[in-house]
Amino acid sequence: MLWLKTFVDLLFENYCLLCGESSGQNIVCSNCKNDFVIKSNYQKSFKDITIYTWGHYDGNLRNGIIALKSGKKRFAQYFAKCLVNFWKELPDAVRDKQYIVIPTPSHKQRIKERGYCQTTLIAKDFTDETGLSLSTNSIVRDKRTEYMNSLNNINERKENIKDAFQIISPINKENVLIIDDILTSGSTLNEIARIIHKHNPRVNIVGLTVAAGDRYN
Ligand SMILES: [Zn+2]
Repeated sequence: MLWLKTFVDLLFENYCLLCGESSGQNIVCSNCKNDFVIKSNYQKSFKDITIYTWGHYDGNLRNGIIALKSGKKRFAQYFAKCLVNFWKELPDAVRDKQYIVIPTPSHKQRIKERGYCQTTLIAKDFTDETGLSLSTNSIVRDKRTEYMNSLNNINERKENIKDAFQIISPINKENVLIIDDILTSGSTLNEIARIIHKHNPRVNIVGLTVAAGDRYN
């Protein structure tokens, strides 16, 4: 019955989303995955938020995030899994809380152009796996901002993102976890945390991102 086995294998055969080679049961092949640079214990604390980051925004990981924003939605599932594993390694003191998970919102025009919001897709799979609750209607992005990677200095980034978000339904939870794809200067997550604290200063806010870039400072 070799033909049947081959047929079944073919049915469930995956092709690496990055290089197109056969990748067995995985979404990304082991060659491409080996190129990911994983940060260890990478965290940065600001006044309103502490941010934990899984990988370095470079090489194949960078290509994967760009591909996710350019139509390859299956990367969301993949990165969510990476974040779940990363989350499990964080200290109990960070994890053992009933977080409400909020993806960094995209502007509605950008969602329309792309057909989806990539951070919402990641957060959805992340909450499915962790059992935490997901909220996609607490905060909206009012202002259509420039891409943060296109801005060179921290002041331009802060100015670009200032007042970009608005709370549309009250956040009554004690713990909020914000999920984003890339961390650059930290300005975006800081701005979201700032407006949450403006409404409710007692909320504990944590950020989780797939990758952080070089220009992070
Ligand atoms: Zn590959």
